[in-house]
Amino acid sequence: MPANILVVEDEPAIQGLLKLNLEHAGHRVVCVGDAEQAQRLMRQMLPDLVLLDWMLPGQSGVQFARALRRDERTRQVPIIMLTARAQEEDKVSGLDAGADDYVTKPFSPRELLARINAVLRRRAPQRTDEPVELAGLRLDPATRRVWAGDRQIELGPTEFRLLHFFMAHPERVHSRAQLLDRVWGDHVYVEERTVDVHIRRLRKALAPTGHDRLIETVRGSGYRFAAA
Ligand code: CA
Repeated sequence: MPANILVVEDEPAIQGLLKLNLEHAGHRVVCVGDAEQAQRLMRQMLPDLVLLDWMLPGQSGVQFARALRRDERTRQVPIIMLTARAQEEDKVSGLDAGADDYVTKPFSPRELLARINAVLRRRAPQRTDEPVELAGLRLDPATRRVWAGDRQIELGPTEFRLLHFFMAHPERVHSRAQLLDRVWGDHVYVEERTVDVHIRRLRKALAPTGHDRLIETVRGSGYRFAAA
């Protein structure tokens, strides 16, 4: 399952190398050269993961990582720091700033991809190909199929992503804005009503087997996948 990866790196050669390797692995990549551009971009869409260079013109990678962690909206976005500095204390301050992992330049593309996958599995399971089984439903991202027992459920692409996100984050209440950010990747241009439309479709698809009751409306807050 492709992830949207934001690369924040000021060296064009490394930027190009990252883009090439990540796209080759099936990811969607946007590159920017500094934290200010990254900030502007993230106001419109949240990536599934940020690859963040340490040494940037203007705000440093560590400062930017801290800023992302302070902000409620961007707190959950996985960050991998990229740096030429291999000192132990640098590693510690990168992780202290909220980075999930740390890759030292020059990096091997295979190692970087392995670390990206590990962080996504941990932090954004809805972006991996791991099948999820919960509350009588089985969802397989690799084949894009959903089963309730031995009955296959037909879902449109958005309903599939929505259900995948819910199953990867059960029990928590998600506001419409959060769902737009995490499932649609856009909370600016898509209206909140859109969420309700797709929730309705998802419930309708799950209704024949009674699984529609798993998608709860939480009044005034949003929606919850109640697996318990
Ligand atoms: Ca740099």
